[in-house]
Amino acid sequence: MSRVTSSRVKELARACGFDLAGIAAATPVPEADWFQRWAASGMAGEMAYLTDHRADIRRDPRRLLASARSVICVGKLYRGPEPLSTEFDASERAWISRYAWGEDYHRVLRRGLRRLARRLEAEAGSFDWRIAVDTAPFLDAAYARHAGLGWVGKNTCLINEKQGSWFFLGALLVSLELEPEAPPPERCGSCTRCIEACPTQAIVPDPAAPLGWSVDARRCISYLTIELRGAIPEELREPMGRHVFGCDICQDVCPWNRRAPANRDAAFAPRQFAPPLERLAALTEEEFREMFRGTPVTRARYRGFLRNVAVAMGNRRDAAYRPALERLAASADPVVAEHARWALRRLD
Ligand code: SF4
Ligand code: SF4
Repeated sequence: MSRVTSSRVKELARACGFDLAGIAAATPVPEADWFQRWAASGMAGEMAYLTDHRADIRRDPRRLLASARSVICVGKLYRGPEPLSTEFDASERAWISRYAWGEDYHRVLRRGLRRLARRLEAEAGSFDWRIAVDTAPFLDAAYARHAGLGWVGKNTCLINEKQGSWFFLGALLVSLELEPEAPPPERCGSCTRCIEACPTQAIVPDPAAPLGWSVDARRCISYLTIELRGAIPEELREPMGRHVFGCDICQDVCPWNRRAPANRDAAFAPRQFAPPLERLAALTEEEFREMFRGTPVTRARYRGFLRNVAVAMGNRRDAAYRPALERLAASADPVVAEHARWALRRLD
C-alpha cells in the first residue's frame, strides 16, 4: 500500500477543486463487456473512436498506463442557477447543452488533475501517473461507479445520491496502490422518467446493459447535433426541437437532480445562454469561431452547427425566419442547404 491513504487522496482532490473523489482498482471492470457489445451492435453510430482499436484499450486501464495500480476518479459539478431546458420555454432561443456553456471542461479537469498529481507527489514521492478525461479510451462512468462516486442510471449518466448527475468526470491513473471503494447500490429502481421524456426515444431496452437500458446514440440529440457529420434522419428532425448542440432533457427530468446543488466553477459560467436562433443563423464562420472559442461547441463545426440551427428554425415554424433560411438554403454546403430547404417547407 502507498504511504498516502485513500482518504488523504480524497482530501487532496477536494482541495484541487473536485466535488467528488474515490478510488477504483486499475483492473478491467465487467461493464467493459457490455460496452463492447453496445459498440458492436451499431448503437455508437459513426463514432469510430468508440469502435476502432481503442475499444481494446478501453478494456484495461493498464493499456493506458502499464504500471497503473489504482484509478483516482473525480467529479466536478457544473450546474449553475440558470433554468433547466425543460423549464425554459422561449422557442426562438437555441438550446445548447449545459456542459458546453463555458470553458471546455477537458482543460479545466486536466488542470485540476495535474495539480492533484503534483500534490500527491509531494506527499508520496515519485510515481507514474496519467490523466484520462474523455479524450482517452477509458470507461469513465464505469470506473467512477467502482470508485463509489455513484451509479450509472438508465440515461447512462453517473448519478450521485446527494449531488445528482451534473458532473464532469475525470480520472488519474496512478502506480500507487490505494485502498479501493465499493460501488454504491443503484437507485433508479422502477423510475422511467428519462425514458419517457426523451424526445427521440433514444433510451432503448438492452438486456445486456447493467440496468437493462442503453442509449442508442444514433437517435440521441447529442450525437445528432455534435458527432454526426452528414444529414440528420428526417424523422428525428422534428423531435430535436430547438436543440442546436447536445441535449439535457434526460438529466433535467431525473428526480436525483431535483435537489442537486448548483455549485459550479467560474470557468463553466455561460458565455452565451440560449442565444436567439436568428443571431446564430447569421454567423459567419469566423464569428462562429469567435463566439464559441474555447468551449466544446466548436466540436460541432460551423457547417454542422448551421445545419442544426436550420432544423431548430424549421421546428419553430416562424415565417419571420424565411429570409435567414433562404440564405442558408443558398449555402455552398449541400448538407446545410438541404436542411434549410427542409425547414423552409415547414414554414409553408
Ligand atoms: S440526451 Fe436527449 S436525446 Fe439523448 S438520450 Fe437524453 S433525452 Fe434522449
Ligand atoms: S430519470 Fe429515473 S430512470 Fe432515468 S436516470 Fe434518473 S432515476 Fe434513473
